[in-house]
Amino acid sequence: MKIHEYQARDLFTQYGIPVNDYILCRTPEEAEAAARKHDHLSVVKSQVLAGGRGKAGGVKLAKTPEEARQKAEHILGLTIKDYPVEKVLVCYAEEIEREHYLGMILDRARQGITIMATAEGGMEIEELAASDPDAIKMYTIYTHKGFDRGEVEAFLKPIFPEPAHLSQALDITEKLFRLFVETDASLVEINPLDLTPDGRLVALDGKVNFDDNAMFRQPEIEKLRNPEESSADEIEAREKDLSFVSLDGDIGCVVNGAGLAMATMDLIQHFGGEPANFLDVGGSSNPEKVAAALKIILRNPKVKAVLINIFGGITRCDDIAKGLLIARDRLDLNVPLVIRLVGTNQEEGRAILEGAGLTAGDDLNTAVRDVIAKAKEA
Ligand code: GDP
Ligand code: MN
Repeated sequence: MKIHEYQARDLFTQYGIPVNDYILCRTPEEAEAAARKHDHLSVVKSQVLAGGRGKAGGVKLAKTPEEARQKAEHILGLTIKDYPVEKVLVCYAEEIEREHYLGMILDRARQGITIMATAEGGMEIEELAASDPDAIKMYTIYTHKGFDRGEVEAFLKPIFPEPAHLSQALDITEKLFRLFVETDASLVEINPLDLTPDGRLVALDGKVNFDDNAMFRQPEIEKLRNPEESSADEIEAREKDLSFVSLDGDIGCVVNGAGLAMATMDLIQHFGGEPANFLDVGGSSNPEKVAAALKIILRNPKVKAVLINIFGGITRCDDIAKGLLIARDRLDLNVPLVIRLVGTNQEEGRAILEGAGLTAGDDLNTAVRDVIAKAKEA
């Protein structure tokens, strides 16, 4: 789950990481009034769930309140990486002596939380990683060992050689680590972490992503969720407890188990088709979930055929078959269905389907080829 910069700033403030106060504005007039609150240069920043806003013209400095209004008017008319800009943040602009980058990721390869830092911040870290990878320093914190101030200080020292800057950087890093762990983040970034000419470190930007699988125990973070992050279909699927991701192809997929769902998409592509979605109906056998899944898939006008791929373990094939019949009764099944049904209670499941005039196969390659052919015919 992603959040906006202004929401990240609120979290930074809660954790004591230095940021300047901001005002969130939806109109140019609000931006002008916000800039009037300080007698200083302002920065007007688009709030969209994407990085690289500066390069896209979505971050501008304004010398006067009138200029802030003009800049806001322009920015509110932009679309950045498919997100129309609906809000801008207006804030006191800091002077920049040096732009640092400070980030942390859940590092699966190293099985810890890796801190990344560089004194060459500002630009997107992916670009720096490509052009000058050695400039990015990394240090992994292992959760069983915890945050060792001495080690982290030694890690930060080459990047912040001045003692006064180092102690601030260490303090910010420690707070950011606490935020990371306590909110179940998967990534946090401060870019730029500004060193001001008078020697303060201030976060001028903030990005925080969270682990979706932990949101059940993070009600305060869950409240920060932004509807524009997900398609309407993904939102409905989440409410139905289905794991669903919209894709661009024309073959709908209903699969039990995330691994099998991935393998099914790979196989569709292998045989020359394009999946319309990733969908895992889960391990349980709830006929209503199958019906809900088909409903979401079938309202996508791009879908020309649907593949049901069930490998019943805990999932029972007879429950899946019942779900398919419920779906058929409720929905206008206007595209061909190809069903592959094997595993627990497969005979019962097939009998139910056959009684209703549907057939199910047992070979996955055959089913995938068949669904691709049907989608091409349509
Ligand atoms: P991003 O492009 O989406 O990462 O947006 P940022 O918030 O990082 O802003 C892009 C760039 O705008 C930064 O790298 C800075 O160079 C500049 N910028 C942002 N805030 C300020 C500020 O308060 N003062 C100054 N002088 N520049 C800023
Ligand atoms: Mn940035």
